[in-house]
Parts: sequence; structure tokens; C-alpha cells
Amino acid sequence: MSADPAAELPFFYGSVSRVEAEEQLKLAGMADGLFLLRQCLRSLGGYVLSLVWNLEFHHYPIEKQLNGTYCITGGKSHCGPAELCEFYSMDPDGLACNLRKPCLRSPDTPIRRGVFDSLRENMLREYVKQTWNLEGEAMEQAIISQAPQLERLIATTAHEKMPWYHGKITRKESERRLYCGAQPDGKFLVRDRDETGTFALSIMYGKTVYHYQILHDKSGKYSMPEGTKFDTVWQLIEYLKMKSDGLVTILREACLNKATIQTPVLPSARRPAAPRYTPPPGGLGIATKPLSPIPANTEVLPMDCAEFVNPYHNPNDLKKFYIQREQLMIDEVELGSGNFGCVKKGVLKTDKGQIDVAIKVLKNDNEKLVREEMMREAEIMHQLDNPYIVRMLGLCQTDALMLVMEMASAGPLNKFLSSKKESVTTENIVNLMHQVSMGMMYLEEKNFVHRDLAARNVLLVNQQFAKISDFGLSKALGADDNYYKARTLGKWPLKWYAPECIKFHKFSSKGDVWSFGVTMWEAFSYGGKPYKKMKIPDVIRLIENGERMECPAKCPEQIYAVMKDCWTYKHEERPDFKKVEGAMRTYYYSISNKGQPEGQTEAATPIK
Ligand code: ADP
Ligand code: MG
Repeated sequence: MSADPAAELPFFYGSVSRVEAEEQLKLAGMADGLFLLRQCLRSLGGYVLSLVWNLEFHHYPIEKQLNGTYCITGGKSHCGPAELCEFYSMDPDGLACNLRKPCLRSPDTPIRRGVFDSLRENMLREYVKQTWNLEGEAMEQAIISQAPQLERLIATTAHEKMPWYHGKITRKESERRLYCGAQPDGKFLVRDRDETGTFALSIMYGKTVYHYQILHDKSGKYSMPEGTKFDTVWQLIEYLKMKSDGLVTILREACLNKATIQTPVLPSARRPAAPRYTPPPGGLGIATKPLSPIPANTEVLPMDCAEFVNPYHNPNDLKKFYIQREQLMIDEVELGSGNFGCVKKGVLKTDKGQIDVAIKVLKNDNEKLVREEMMREAEIMHQLDNPYIVRMLGLCQTDALMLVMEMASAGPLNKFLSSKKESVTTENIVNLMHQVSMGMMYLEEKNFVHRDLAARNVLLVNQQFAKISDFGLSKALGADDNYYKARTLGKWPLKWYAPECIKFHKFSSKGDVWSFGVTMWEAFSYGGKPYKKMKIPDVIRLIENGERMECPAKCPEQIYAVMKDCWTYKHEERPDFKKVEGAMRTYYYSISNKGQPEGQTEAATPIK
């Protein structure tokens, strides 16, 4: 999981309250400009800067903004908490004074983890396991690729894990539970209020139970009437343990929900679970098409699609390599074509039901070379099993040779993007290209070179789910080989090729990294053509001169930096996919906001 970006800072204390922060500053001597950083208990991902000036404390909330940058209200944006502190150490820019002396954490005071920090990891796993029935590698891939969305889902349901949460009980029942046993002031519980989806807080004070409605505003924030607003219910509760915010008392002891403690309650999915692929019983035929593909919209996660997991239990089951003609229904619809023949739509009947498939049908000219080429493509694909790579389901050998693959119905990335320039956001493209980098990292680990990575060969299952396809040029490298030496100069996609591929016909995963850079360029220019109108010799000259394609108009700087890294001339100095995936992941996590539609973030109000 993503570590806290402030974890490395020696003056970061984690989840400590304002009072505790002031204690630390007092202990450290109250010099002007003495400061520390702590986790914001109010907004997800935010911080508070606590500063001393003139023997007084000043607390400045730092908001994490939608674009992933951090800023103090009204101040400049910074790419991380460290950069922000460095900036204010040089320039007060509106603060009481500049940051002069860090109030360092003593070695025996670890960074305090918040209530959610310690729950997050387990909850993520449980959630993914329960919602999508995933395990092992598929679960890890799901978590890595969709962490920001998942964390958002988890955070908003984390209260259900808390011992003070009693679920749907009546007001009367809440009183019965609070009056049960000792009745100290501040004993409390949270319950669901009727059908409205809002919550109520019930508190014991002076042997009497008081009930408060927890407000939930349009932007999704929780608060007490006229009180401070929070992203989640559990943050509000943590805050009310320190500050009464208009209540009769601050919250003290939780009235324990025995059910929550004994049998851990899983967070109920806030979002309606998308329909999972359930094979219908019997019946084969296009007319009774079994799958209703999930519409391409922004809510669907890759794990919601049947294509996320391998439909076969054992991908290496060789018996499954060949498919019987009777198992296959071939539609007339052509998905695409190439010189080998065409790709058709179809349905495959398996033990577990029917699957929508794409079938690469070889032209029936019996040309031995072409046939062998396709057999090799099948052998390569047969060994691969990753959510971000199109899976081969088998080979069908009748009059024509047919390669049966899982279907990626939204088609090639370049076409998709050029037809949807208006509706696809940068974050969306970053998510897709991060998935491609995960698929490529998998290939790199398995020692396969793709040799034809390009936007036309990245296929979409839907707007949020990409898969690498077209293994027609791919090669498996031997255990000791670092590269594949091509003997024949084929119809090579030279504009996607690294210098060593063009000049020496040396192909390695590093060559694929270069192609990934070009694919990124295509994606961020919404399906634009790389080195437009230029002839190959001119492209080679341009690269030899140290020049590279320019940053596409809507492409973030950080992404262009990754592209240029991929276009490192010498393959020895070029990053591998492990590194590229890391860079894509970091950037993707940083821009994935807190789930609010744009324009709904509130200005931070200073804590008094
Ligand atoms: P080529 O070697 O000719 O480039 P591809 O494997 O890239 O062959 O397939 C050609 C076209 O067929 C693709 O651009 C795409 O439109 C379609 N296609 C191929 N595989 C699939 C698939 N699994 N799902 C949906 N469409 C596919
Ligand atoms: Mg292709």
C-alpha cells in the first residue's frame, strides 16, 4: 500500500491531536518558528502544520487537492508535504513566521498510526476478497491497480468496523444498550437512522441519553449541526473524542457492539455490486447471448468484469489447448483484420458456461509460414495469465486455424481515445496506462518480449480496463538470454522501436520499454500518430540527434517525464518495467482524488 508521503519527515508525528502537538512544542522550548507536522484528523490525506510564534500556537491545515498537490488555504500548491515545508522554511508567505526549527520526534516516539491506518490493509483485502471473490495473485493485482478507488470505498465504510457502531437499531434499543451496565458521562454509540442512510449519535450524560443526528451534506461530508465537517463518520467520532463541538460532552467510552467485536463485520459495499459473470445453464447460440457486458462508464472497476480472472482453473492445462469446433459459435461480425486474416466475434462453450470471445481466423491459403507464425503466437499466449493481458482460451484447428481469445469489446485504445476526446479524463488514461505497465512488468518478469507494443495493440474491455494483445511478433527469451536477435527484417513497427532494435535487431524488455513510451505518447495525444508525416529515416535522424517527440497538449509533466525516461537512448541506462510501473503507480495514486466530483472541495477553515 502507499505509505504516508510524510513518513520520512523527522518532524512528522502522525495521528496526534492539536493538544498533543502543543505539548510537544512546549517541551521543545517554544522558540519562534518551531514547528511540527501531523495528520489531519478531518480530511483524508491532509495534514496540519503546527507552528510557534511569539509564544503562541498556530495550526494550519494542509489540504490534499484533487490534482494530488498540497496547499495551505490561500497558499501555493506543492507536490508533497516535504516540498511544502521546505517552501515555508524560506518564505512565511502568510504564516505567522517562516518554519525555522523542526520539532523532532524522539527516537522512542514512533509515528502514531490513525484508527484507519491500522485497519486499512486488512479491510482492503477482505473487501476485495468478498466483493470479487478474488484470491492470490489476482487479488494482489486488483489491489495494486485500483488502490485509490478501493481505499475510497473502504474509508467511507470503515465505521462499520468500529466497536461503537451498532448498525440498524432503534432509538429505544440504543437507550437500552447505553443504560446497560455502567453509565459514565460520554459513553456513546453510533447507529443507522431509519431508511434515510444517515446516522445518529447517542450519548450518555448525567445518567440520561441524548441523541444527535449526524448531518451528511451534498458533498458527502459528515458533521454535527454547525460543526466541523469530515470526510468519514469515523473521523468525526475521533474528533468528538477531543472536542465537544456543541454536544453535551466530549465522547469517552464506546458502548461496545458485541456483534462487531465477536464476528468482524465486513464493510457493506456502498456501491451496488456490479453483476458478476454467471454462466447461464445450457443452451448455446448467438441468439441467447449470455453476457450483458457492463456498460463503459467510469464506475466499473476491472474486477467487476468476467475478464479479470482466468476462466480456466489451471492455465497450464495442456488438454485445454485445443478447442473443439462444436464448442465454438462464430459470428459474422468482424472485429478487425490484418494480413493473416481477420478477427471475428464469437461465443465459446466451456464446462463453466459461455464466454464471449474474439477469434483470429487464419486466411485459408495454407501458407505454411503464416500458419507456423500463428502457432507460435498461440504458444506464447498460452503461457500468459495476467488480468492486463488478453488471454488465449485455445486453438481450434479445422479447415482454418483459429486462435480463440477472450473478448475486449471496447476495441483498440487509439481508436477509442480518438473517438472520445471529450469524455476521457487524464486520470482515466493514467489508470489505463498504469494497467498496461503492470501487464508489461509481468511479461518482463516471465522473460517475454512483446515487440509490437503500441496503442493499436492495447485493447479495452471497457473504459477503465485495458489489456495488451497481439503477440504475433512476441518471443520467449531463454533463461540465459538477455535479448532476442532477429534475423529477418519483417514488417516492423519502426516508429515504436528503440535504437538498438532498429540498428542491431536486438530485442529485449528494454526495447518494449521504449515502445511503452511511444504508446504513452499516443494515449495522451488521444490516439494521435507518432512522428506524424515523418519518414522513417527522418525519425531515426531525429532520435540520433537527441531529440524526442514533444509533450502532448493535455499530458501532465510527470507523465512526459516517464515517456522521456522510456526514450533513454542507451538500453543499459533505460529503466525497466519494474521501475516504469512504480513511476506510473506513484503518479496514479497521487492524482486519484478523494472521490469528490471536481469543484466540490471546500476551503479549509483554520482550526482555532
Ligand atoms: P494484427 O497482427 O493484424 O495487428 P491483432 O491481434 O492486433 O492483429 O488484431 C487485429 C484487430 O482485431 C485488433 O485491432 C482489434 O480490433 C481486433 N481484435 C483482436 N483481438 C481482439 C480481442 N481479443 N477482442 C476484441 N477485438 C480484438
Ligand atoms: Mg495489431
